[in-house]
Amino acid sequence: MTYQYWNEQLETISRKELEAWQLAKLKETVGRSLRTPFYQKRLTESGIKSPDDIKSLEDLKRIPFTTKNDLRDGFPYGFLSIPRDEVVRLHASSGTTGTPTTIYFSRDDLKQWASFMARCIYGTGCTRADVFQNMISYGLFTGGLGFHAGAEEVGMLVIPSGSGNTARQFRLMQDFGTTAVHATPSFLLHVESKMKEEGVKRESLLLKRAFAGAEPYSEDTRKRIEGLLNIEVFNSYGLSEMNGPGVAFECQCKNGLHIWEDGYIAEIIDPETLENVTGDGRGELVITILCREATPILRYRTRDLTGFIPDNCPCGRTHRRLYRITGRSDDMLIINGVNVFPSQIEEVIMAINEVGNNYVIEIEKEGVLDRLTVKTEIKPENFMDDTRPLNALKEKIRRQIQASITINPRVELNEAGSLPVSEGKAVRVKDLRPKDL
Ligand code: ADP
Ligand code: ZN
Repeated sequence: MTYQYWNEQLETISRKELEAWQLAKLKETVGRSLRTPFYQKRLTESGIKSPDDIKSLEDLKRIPFTTKNDLRDGFPYGFLSIPRDEVVRLHASSGTTGTPTTIYFSRDDLKQWASFMARCIYGTGCTRADVFQNMISYGLFTGGLGFHAGAEEVGMLVIPSGSGNTARQFRLMQDFGTTAVHATPSFLLHVESKMKEEGVKRESLLLKRAFAGAEPYSEDTRKRIEGLLNIEVFNSYGLSEMNGPGVAFECQCKNGLHIWEDGYIAEIIDPETLENVTGDGRGELVITILCREATPILRYRTRDLTGFIPDNCPCGRTHRRLYRITGRSDDMLIINGVNVFPSQIEEVIMAINEVGNNYVIEIEKEGVLDRLTVKTEIKPENFMDDTRPLNALKEKIRRQIQASITINPRVELNEAGSLPVSEGKAVRVKDLRPKDL
């Protein structure tokens, strides 16, 4: 296989040179941070008064972590390090876990972001000959404009379709010969279900690749989307605090996400002890952004759970790869005392062939106990009046979930297309337990 690089020199830089680069950028970033009200206080308190106090990459550990709450406390301008009139754009997180946080960009920041994004897109094999349909919401959410700029940088023909409205999406794909799309994995599954419903033939589309991210999904879900739509799916990871998409992305090897270490310093910590995890151990991803001047953020606790894949990638890139992100530490559900990640349930049900493309996890209180219900859709061809095969399927799903998470769930089968679909990030978990119990 031949691999194409957007910036070969930086993508294949030696580890030694990369570390020297990181140290220089870290010093610059600390210097900028000292110009923000928040870090001025935080860093001086930890004895860091000038960039010269950072002498090696090890000194990063002297810097305290920054949390989402810190960002909220610093709202609106506590993290701004350049004059207000040099700021050309702001973005905000989607607010999945509370009040949104705001990030500011200078003109140069936007350029850098676009070039990281271009690196991601080009690394999947796309070129300027591709037609790219960005099926994700534009606006404050970073997925829209982030991908948009990167795809333009590559020179693709960009269709800023936004999310939703599958009939219109299909028409655009057919009219302009879309070859690559960007969407959440849940929206891609929805698109596939709608294709059947609206009688759109796969042969009428030129689709080759999809970039799927913004929410966790399992390897089985990737395989399912690839099989159903006959395309290649690449995992895209980012978060608005770190610009948005373009932080880590899969190359053509599709085995882990290269995190761009010339733009970001990544660490894995144990979320309980806050100690750095070594080797390929799993834990919480912590990121320091080196490629943004307007809003520096140091050692940001992402809450996202992953780890570094130990060996080198065959593609020749030297930037380390992250394991697929399985969810956030705060996604963890405690059901009758057992810790469960929604991703564990997804992994089981998406591997069952008869199960359709959408599901919901519900937890209620029944007396003193928690009750887990997994609502799945089933593929139209498996829906029938005869209840016996359906009961057998239900039992199979129940058994497999129990085998994986030890909790015995109630399983509900629904007709394809009957569970609620979200146009942005999927809302898969409904925790209906009273909050104060
Ligand atoms: P919010 O934090 O409000 O959801 P963002 O839009 O910044 O706002 O979302 C970033 C988060 O989305 C990440 O921290 C991560 O939890 C999740 N995410 C993004 N991409 C992926 C991916 N490829 N796999 C798993 N989770 C992802
Ligand atoms: Zn690679």
